[in-house]
Amino acid sequence: MNNVESVIVYSQTTLKEALQTLDSSGVAILLLVDQTGVLQRTVTDGDIRRLILAGFSLEACLQELDSKTPLTISLDESSEDALLIMDENLIDHIPVVDEHFRPVKLFLRRNIHPKILLSVPHMGDTEERYVKEAFDTNWIAPLGPNVDAFEKEISEYVSCGHAAALSSGTAAIHLALRLLDVGPGDIVFCSSFTFIASANPILYQGASPVFIDSEPSSWNMSPMALERALEDFSTAGSLPKAIIVVHLYGQSADMDAIMSLCDRYGVPVIEDAAESLGATFKGKATGTFGKFGIFSFNGNKIITTSGGGMLISDDEEMIRKARFLSTQARDDAPYYEHSQVGYNYRMSNVLAGIGRGQLEVLDARVEARRSIFSLYLESLSDIKAIQWMPELKGTFSNRWLTTFTIDPQCADVTPSQIIASLAEINIEARHLWRPMHKQPLFKDVTYYRHANVSVCDDLFERGLCLPSASNMDPSLQNVVIQRIRKMFQ
Ligand SMILES: *Cc1c(COP(=O)(O)O)cnc(C)c1O
Repeated sequence: MNNVESVIVYSQTTLKEALQTLDSSGVAILLLVDQTGVLQRTVTDGDIRRLILAGFSLEACLQELDSKTPLTISLDESSEDALLIMDENLIDHIPVVDEHFRPVKLFLRRNIHPKILLSVPHMGDTEERYVKEAFDTNWIAPLGPNVDAFEKEISEYVSCGHAAALSSGTAAIHLALRLLDVGPGDIVFCSSFTFIASANPILYQGASPVFIDSEPSSWNMSPMALERALEDFSTAGSLPKAIIVVHLYGQSADMDAIMSLCDRYGVPVIEDAAESLGATFKGKATGTFGKFGIFSFNGNKIITTSGGGMLISDDEEMIRKARFLSTQARDDAPYYEHSQVGYNYRMSNVLAGIGRGQLEVLDARVEARRSIFSLYLESLSDIKAIQWMPELKGTFSNRWLTTFTIDPQCADVTPSQIIASLAEINIEARHLWRPMHKQPLFKDVTYYRHANVSVCDDLFERGLCLPSASNMDPSLQNVVIQRIRKMFQ
């Protein structure tokens, strides 16, 4: 609700004054009243623009506007009623009037519904119980039964031999590189279309990244580009020490093609499955194809421990070593003895308790995210300009975030415009990840395109992510849908 004083105008108000009022009030609507304060109509910047286009000067007055009975609600109606009328009429504000039809307040959509975020934590019923157990036994830190159980439960869930619970997904990638002995002078290939955390650990180890484009059918690492890169580097006698393959937005990369190439050249694969827990490729969990897989339990991921990560592998010795390195690499001696560089990367017993509870609801969360995607798809299926992220044949995506690109041949709308329009009514949408080879941090790094065009640059230009939280109310998702629909009209 808003104080109406700041948006009241009269028929003698000039267009210039009206524009200034719009500007200073921060509300995209003005209320035109007569001398007795009775509401005549609402005025938007579009109404003023039309007067100016019709030849009126900025000194002309609002009396030039046609009369138009405004939509209003009465004092006894609730904010839910207001939201309903706004939804039906595709508007974002509605004045509340008294019995004399004088405006007394203004309902703004952005003040009625809560902020709709891209992805938020969604707790189940048992997290608190596991955390309480940790408190009751004073097993707050460092390690303990929740950590051991969480590792075991994740390994079982994805059918992988071993797992080490860590403080973040980034830490897991870093340890994987360290365990593969990546160091200064080494080359590491990495998907370009990803979040910075996939690539930063390459720099931590003093190695050099080479970025690989995406393919259109999965949006993930292009086997064609990877093959050319491997050929080139093999010929030059400098094969990469590791390859980081990312499964973006919950969609698996083409692991048959990628693993056969990497096996042919004998290069170990690290799968960044931070966004794809619960997703599969031909029935096998993402993260279990390469030498190492990593998951993230950051607050925005499909399940969360508030912050955390997991390193998985079938190689027991490697996971044992990961636990050793993540706890300061303390040698087996009666005093503190260290012969290698270690890290403070272990997950705490309290957070692992949250993780155990979250893992119990992971399947339900995947189902919820997939339903959210389906509702977007069905509700907007008539808009030809919208192209949804594909689900590669033989894969099962967790649809962590619903994402789409816009076909510029079919609509004159940009991702930035949609993001800005949604932000006006408190809805968060974002651009797709900006490719690594376009980051200032990596400006001189070698990049292999899929073909003549760079697929991930094109995806970045034309794409965006929509609110996809598993606990998003369907009526709120409908607000997002209606707003997008309006943009394409
Ligand atoms: C979130 C994320 C990470 C990093 O995980 P943290 O737990 O936040 O360190 C790595 N890669 C991708 C693709 C991610 O989305």
